[in-house]
Amino acid sequence: MPGVYISYPFCAQKCTYCNFASGVFPRELEPSYVDELRAELLKTEWPWTPETVYLGGGTPSQMDPTALASVLASVPGKPWREATIEAAPGGLTREKLLAWSEAGVNRVSLGVQSFVQKELARTGRKHTAEIVEREVALLRGCGIASISIDLIAGLPGQTPASWKESLDWIERLGTPHVSVYMLEVDEDSRLGLEILNNGSRYGASDVPVEDAIADYYETAVERLTAMGMERYEISNFARRGFESIHNLKYWKREPYLGFGADAHSFCGEMRWQNPENVADYVAGFASPERTPADAVGEKFYLGLRLSEGIADDTAPFAEVIGQFTSEGLVERHEGRIRLTPRGVLLSNEVFAEFVGGVAPSVR
Ligand code: SF4
Repeated sequence: MPGVYISYPFCAQKCTYCNFASGVFPRELEPSYVDELRAELLKTEWPWTPETVYLGGGTPSQMDPTALASVLASVPGKPWREATIEAAPGGLTREKLLAWSEAGVNRVSLGVQSFVQKELARTGRKHTAEIVEREVALLRGCGIASISIDLIAGLPGQTPASWKESLDWIERLGTPHVSVYMLEVDEDSRLGLEILNNGSRYGASDVPVEDAIADYYETAVERLTAMGMERYEISNFARRGFESIHNLKYWKREPYLGFGADAHSFCGEMRWQNPENVADYVAGFASPERTPADAVGEKFYLGLRLSEGIADDTAPFAEVIGQFTSEGLVERHEGRIRLTPRGVLLSNEVFAEFVGGVAPSVR
């Protein structure tokens, strides 16, 4: 069953590590953006009824709750099996959460990134560990038990001790889903660009070395597994039954429709993307060009992200898979092919062999 992605790119600040098409835009753009979102949703001829909705961004949690309700009211299928909103810690109130529940939201993903004040301050995030603790309790008190927390391994100044502190907080809070991302260094974030230019702003010269980041990731795998979570995708860990139904669609190549600036869509055969620029999106736009999906390559580089891997049918990559197997990056297990723990750490190199067509956006 397909899903719906809704993008809300507005943020209170631009975090140094962030490479999404999000940012601080004039506040007066927000109502026009919501109008355009609603219009885009209402003119859609739904070929199916969505079972999941994902409000990402950006910071959709800063959306006016009435506007959010009107946007969700334009999506058929309520109550959805899963309806997630990404939230920046620090802005949750009981009223807001009750309004979200009423609108159909039943899962919240908190962009915590770190529980260590020094690390947060350097990235531009304003919350504290105590605020996150309070908001997790608030969510549970409002009946939202499906909570995810994002962490980033590789933030400036991170040490084995500070990483342990963040993981200790995860254990204390006991949320049933955690995402652990390794810092992405590219020119789309201020921190990434600074690292590439050998600069020192934003703590760029204090970013842990690659091996240390890999160690942090492996420590997270051990700790989260000991907490009763399973790694079901490279960056995603969940207690059984709390895996993200929506995000699994991306890796399993199930259809989804994206709405809002920079949103991607996939109908099962073709992919397309809305204008990235918020002002262009608000100004109205012609139907985006559709590009045939690279079905074979995607099966490998999306499916291999999953711990369960893919069915053992290597054509037309038999030679490449054979090579990765002999290098210990890929293994066969119960009729399937999957990455080995070493393959997970070198997954970007593995996936590069399979990328052919338009790479879909997967977070
Ligand atoms: S990390 Fe999240 S809150 Fe920060 S700028 Fe990016 S989208 Fe906005």
